[in-house]
Amino acid sequence: MYMYAAMTDMAVLTNDTLMGQAVDKLWENMVTRKTYITGGIGSRHEGESFGDNYELPNLSSYNETCAAIGSVYWNHRLHSKTGNAGYFDVIERTLYNGLISGLSLDGTSFFYPNALEADGEFKFNRGSCTRQNWFDCSCCPTNLIRFIPAIPGLLYSHSADTIYVNLFAASEATIDLPQNRINLSVQTQYPWDGKVSIVVKPEKNTAFTLKIRIPSWARNQPMPGDLYAYSRFNEEKALVSLNGEVQDLDLSGEYLVVQRNWKAEDALTLTFPMPVRMVESNPLVTSNAGKRSLERGPLVYAIEEMDNPGDFDAIQLDPGATFEVQEAPDLLGGIYTISNGEFTAIPYYSWSNRGIGKMKVWLQTTETIPNK
Ligand SMILES: [Zn+2]
Repeated sequence: MYMYAAMTDMAVLTNDTLMGQAVDKLWENMVTRKTYITGGIGSRHEGESFGDNYELPNLSSYNETCAAIGSVYWNHRLHSKTGNAGYFDVIERTLYNGLISGLSLDGTSFFYPNALEADGEFKFNRGSCTRQNWFDCSCCPTNLIRFIPAIPGLLYSHSADTIYVNLFAASEATIDLPQNRINLSVQTQYPWDGKVSIVVKPEKNTAFTLKIRIPSWARNQPMPGDLYAYSRFNEEKALVSLNGEVQDLDLSGEYLVVQRNWKAEDALTLTFPMPVRMVESNPLVTSNAGKRSLERGPLVYAIEEMDNPGDFDAIQLDPGATFEVQEAPDLLGGIYTISNGEFTAIPYYSWSNRGIGKMKVWLQTTETIPNK
């Protein structure tokens, strides 16, 4: 990841087209064949390496925390090079799931590998079944501590006349365009709630373009490529209003593009519907045959033994199930749970904060899913 990030820099700085093409090919292969639904990469413990195409085992998945961080750095560079939002779809998925899972909720213990399944016996985390305070080679804890303060630098980017809103977080930002200084004030409860309010405050009234990423999950695609797909198409559309008036804008693309003469206190509100979604893998991922995973917004969910006592391994997901989403302010630092009578699921990142036990992201369904 770190080498590919450097190769991307070199391709841009030295105008090296071949290097650029090599990087694009590597990215394509990673995202369409070798990325876990959590954004995790590097399926093999041995050599901390990528496996073959579609080799994505769950119990033995490696997914080093450092690899997830490296993937964000690399994708960020590719976004800066191209302005394409797909790189931020990968970043968002990684950030909220397989990266932040590396850190315990109290901030004191760490995963080196980020497994998608645990049996409570396999000591996948360097001799432990749960997070550890330190490792003999302690790259992941220190890398997280370097990375987390840099997250604000991912939220926005800009060219001479365009500001990109890449990720949604409550924030205040000052962005200097060549002719003007723009302040952006964002209020949101994302990723728990899909409503994002952006107040634009230019120093002087001026024309520029605001490009707001429409997350791929809100466009019925978990991430770029055909490695994963939602089981059902969500017809509910995102809503946009400008200064209180609902706008009829094209939301099918990867960006909402708003080009206008901006005035101080212009207020844009986006609302992304956040139903619970079921995800299926490409049939070539044999480890996920007959299984589905759950997500809501950008968050991948998992079931943990703690919340589902009894015969954990017998839990099955009915493809026709309907779900209840419940706010649990006192659970795991404040989360939303998903339940359906058969089980309760928690956000993947928050697992393994209550002792050692079993966990699964991919759930066996009660039906055989036919090959596509
Ligand atoms: Zn590491």
